[in-house]
Amino acid sequence: MLVGHAWALELLLRRWKAGCLSHATLLLGPPNIGKTTLARVFAQALQCVAPTPMPCGTCSSCRRVTTGNHPDVRILDTPGEPIKIEQVRELQRDLALLPYEGQWRVAILTEFERATLEAANALLKTLEEPPSYVVLLLTATRIDQLLPTIVSRCQTLWLRPLAIDQVQQALMSQWGVEPSTAKLLAHLSGGRIGWAVNAVYDREVMERRAEALEQISDLMHQNRVQRLGYAAALSRSPKLLEETLMLWGNWWHDLLLLRAGAQVPVCNIDQLERLHAQAQYITLDQARRMVEQVEFVMQCIEQNVNTRLAIEVLLLSWPRVEE
Ligand SMILES: [Zn+2]
Repeated sequence: MLVGHAWALELLLRRWKAGCLSHATLLLGPPNIGKTTLARVFAQALQCVAPTPMPCGTCSSCRRVTTGNHPDVRILDTPGEPIKIEQVRELQRDLALLPYEGQWRVAILTEFERATLEAANALLKTLEEPPSYVVLLLTATRIDQLLPTIVSRCQTLWLRPLAIDQVQQALMSQWGVEPSTAKLLAHLSGGRIGWAVNAVYDREVMERRAEALEQISDLMHQNRVQRLGYAAALSRSPKLLEETLMLWGNWWHDLLLLRAGAQVPVCNIDQLERLHAQAQYITLDQARRMVEQVEFVMQCIEQNVNTRLAIEVLLLSWPRVEE
């Protein structure tokens, strides 16, 4: 189900109907904001057999795209795993065949900046000489980690996180989440609908958050050795680290807002008491530095450099609080 990004879908539909759809489109934007969902819905539109609206979402073609069973729509979606050359080669053999049912063969390749160099180079061949009936939809978070030759052969669309209200409304109306939980998850998501929906189904997300919030307080009282021990533990678990960094980023950003006296709502709306208590002991400068440092570690992870060292620096500069 596509939430938000209506303008992007309309743009793709307009290009298609005007006959100027690029054979390859690159959907860019932060993780979990709906890039793959948009690609899937557009693939539905290309296959939909209902006259209108496009896509109908209920015809046999639309339903089979949703369940991954449409013979003319291939999705290479391996979260966290790079797309490999064998997968691209297999896809290319598939795309060489004429469509079974409709007019188009669609391939969706997600997180393409993680694809191996061999896989990316292999795909270039298809991008250079695509069969006329092929539509490729690539998604990526970071454009600077894609081969320039890939980027230059795609039409690019940048997607943004959704408005918090939009996420909250969607959680209530489409996923039946009760209002207070929807409000909290929407704020925590920062507009990343995919994150919020995942948190609805995976209760451990909120349990891990509770633990991470405790850890934030604990760190403020820990000594150097304890902090370095925690840095070592975190750097061994990339998945947990990513989630923890997002939480820390939001937390320090909230503290920054409070210290700055900003009139915008914080992200951790259920933790106002704890935030206000900590904000008393933190300076505006400390909060700003921590926000920057968390972002720096995130960049290190994305670029695969010195992650362990960056976490150590971050944790050693974590403000000490004597309450
Ligand atoms: Zn349909």
